[in-house]
Amino acid sequence: MRLQKKVMVITGGGSGIGRAAALKAVREGAKVVVADINEDTGKETVSLIENSGGEAAFYKVDVTHFQEVEALVQYAADSYGTIDVMFNNAGIGLNKPFLDHNPEDYDKVVKVNQYGVYYGILAAGRKMKELDVKGSIINTASVFGYMASPGVFGYQAAKGAVIMMTKSAALELAPYGIRVTAVAPGGVNTPIVQGYKDLGLWDHLSSQQMTGNIIEPEQIADVVAFMASEESSVINGTVVMADDGYTSFKSHYG
Ligand code: NAD
Repeated sequence: MRLQKKVMVITGGGSGIGRAAALKAVREGAKVVVADINEDTGKETVSLIENSGGEAAFYKVDVTHFQEVEALVQYAADSYGTIDVMFNNAGIGLNKPFLDHNPEDYDKVVKVNQYGVYYGILAAGRKMKELDVKGSIINTASVFGYMASPGVFGYQAAKGAVIMMTKSAALELAPYGIRVTAVAPGGVNTPIVQGYKDLGLWDHLSSQQMTGNIIEPEQIADVVAFMASEESSVINGTVVMADDGYTSFKSHYG
């Protein structure tokens, strides 16, 4: 029960990593606000939590609008009295060769994957300071924030920004006792990757990981729960690589 009495907000909580993180956090004792643009899947996560005896609420949010993210954070504080953990995790994929990658495509992916995280850090940071909460803000980066791969130009630009925003915001919020970290998953078995199976993304990601397997969302959720808890109190302004070795090797020899 590492997260007992903690209030955690999770964007993108309706699916994949966000849903697994919500279920795990509740098992560790947290109350969770499941935030997603998709009302059906977000409410489904809440039902799963309630059926297991946990406490959660759904809040519909589009993370590309700052006022909505601010309202989400306020909703958590109003409903549960505080906000201890903000998991800025909502994201979209976009796979197109660079020369077909239009400015509109770039805007779209950067708006969700980069601005969405910025808005989450800002809104949660302000509220945690106001409530004098020594909170934990966790952002979802990616191995694609470190290493280039064809067809994901805008996605990679956004994830690179998430890594730098994590460091910069951690420095700014440390005086208030608020930590800012990121998790960088490798290839995870969620709709984002399942959708690109035909393009070979699934096989590519698996082959770049040391076990040769795709990662399950629950494995990332375990890492997130640790980062949300005080057990990770000395981890700040950095990225935890949850990538099964993806960024540590290029290819097999012999
Ligand atoms: P997913 O598609 O299962 O979940 C993403 C969730 O975000 C969905 O529920 C979706 O409705 C929500 N969302 C999308 N746009 C939104 C918006 N504007 N406002 C609010 N919610 C929105 O995918 P996932 O793999 O669980 O992705 C979660 C995060 O993990 C993303 O940031 C993604 O980039 C990152 N990531 C995924 C992988 C992977 O291999 N699956 C690897 C590295 C990083």
